[in-house]
Amino acid sequence: MDEREMEELRSYFNGGNTREATWRKQQLKGLLKFLEEREEDIFRALKLDLGKHPVESYRDEIGTLIKDVNVALDNLRNWMSGKKIKLPLAAFRCSANMVPEPLGVVLIIPSWNFPFGLSLEPLIGAIAAGCTAVIKPSELSPASSALLAEAIPTYIDSEAVKIIQGGVDVCGQLLQYKWDKILFTGSSRVARVVMTAAAKHLTPVVLELGGKCPCIIDSLPKSWLKEVVINRLLGGKFGMCSGQVCIGVDYILVEKQLCSSLIEQLKEGIKRTFGGNPEECVARIINKDHFKRLTGLIDEYGVRQSIVYGGSFDEDKLFIEPTILVDPPLNAEIMTGEIFGPLLPIITLNNIEESINFINSRPKPLAMYCFTDNNKFMQRVETETSSGSLLFNDTIVQYAADTAPFGGVGESGFGRYHGKFTFDTFSHEKPVLKRSLFPDFWFRYPPWTNKKLEL
Ligand code: NAD
Repeated sequence: MDEREMEELRSYFNGGNTREATWRKQQLKGLLKFLEEREEDIFRALKLDLGKHPVESYRDEIGTLIKDVNVALDNLRNWMSGKKIKLPLAAFRCSANMVPEPLGVVLIIPSWNFPFGLSLEPLIGAIAAGCTAVIKPSELSPASSALLAEAIPTYIDSEAVKIIQGGVDVCGQLLQYKWDKILFTGSSRVARVVMTAAAKHLTPVVLELGGKCPCIIDSLPKSWLKEVVINRLLGGKFGMCSGQVCIGVDYILVEKQLCSSLIEQLKEGIKRTFGGNPEECVARIINKDHFKRLTGLIDEYGVRQSIVYGGSFDEDKLFIEPTILVDPPLNAEIMTGEIFGPLLPIITLNNIEESINFINSRPKPLAMYCFTDNNKFMQRVETETSSGSLLFNDTIVQYAADTAPFGGVGESGFGRYHGKFTFDTFSHEKPVLKRSLFPDFWFRYPPWTNKKLEL
């Protein structure tokens, strides 16, 4: 994208079309049409890029996006109308409203693991807010990026939304321009590049990053509910994009005495959930580099010996079997960096209360999970740890709860989106005050005569 195209995008925004509610609605309906009419193409692209099963693709991308567009369509008028502000006595005979205005021309840089969701969910909010936008989809999911680039301009106003394909060079070039907001989803390494470029223009950024999301298992229920815990745990690790998920469970913390029973349950659960042929129902690793990175984690000194389940892989198919490890060395990369794949370390503790210090001595996670029926412990976890989000007794579902904001804290990023929060992210909330000329108070103005000072 050259400077001329960038200027065109800005002048289109300045033309005012995108501020009209009818324009915004039309584009949102266009997105809905794309998701409905091109469902099969989306399935195909996700199969090619990630080997995702169509059910997973519908659950995590198409279905979620359809819900998001409908939420935006249903609430647009309300979101756009802003809200009344209560004023103090100093603003006597004044009325005020918080008016959301579109920020302008925005840049969306998604990751590859949910190539449609991470591109279009921010776009829904950007359009609803009345912005023009550029999306630079990831070069690591080429089939999905190509589909977005081919189809989106035919469903929505191509003068207002552009899909620019390319890799690091293209992204670097886009970052040179002045944007009114950048929403970046990716690694903390590249986030630093994005933020440095944005600083040059004082462009605000939202950084949706990752990290190691811990899951504390305080206890396993004795009844059939045990199976529920195991299913939720496995779903949050292996059941979504093969663990290549920013809020996926990265590792488990459990008391030593509970560990062997947990492993037995997990093994049974994997067989129950993924059957004899996990290749059929789990996504594949995105590419050879990531495959080698993941198998390299196992090859590190002292890690392979800690495998208690799985550990087989097929480089040609980019498949890694769901794998469980117990107490790999804490200084090994598998425990220092984000795993982002189907390897699940279990770290054993003498006492589950130690989990709080364990988590606090590491960078703040994007998400934290805790299975417990102990209210006191729940309270301690809530108040004594920090994370982008915290979910008790389940995994992942906070992502779908779009009336709650989604975002990180510390190393896992900052800024937030989803639902109305995406609209807010791409809007400036402008306080607009209207005052009557009468009455006026003469003592407001200089000169500061004695008469005024006596008042
Ligand atoms: P990445 O940081 O490597 O790449 C993200 C984007 O930045 C891509 O579009 C890429 O083209 C671009 N890019 C890469 N290097 C660049 C450079 N030097 N200069 C300019 N642009 C560059 O991340 P990834 O591999 O796509 O994603 C994995 C990471 O994303 C994980 O850490 C994961 O946790 C995180 N993630 C976070 C969320 C979230 O919602 N918080 C969602 C998905 C993934």
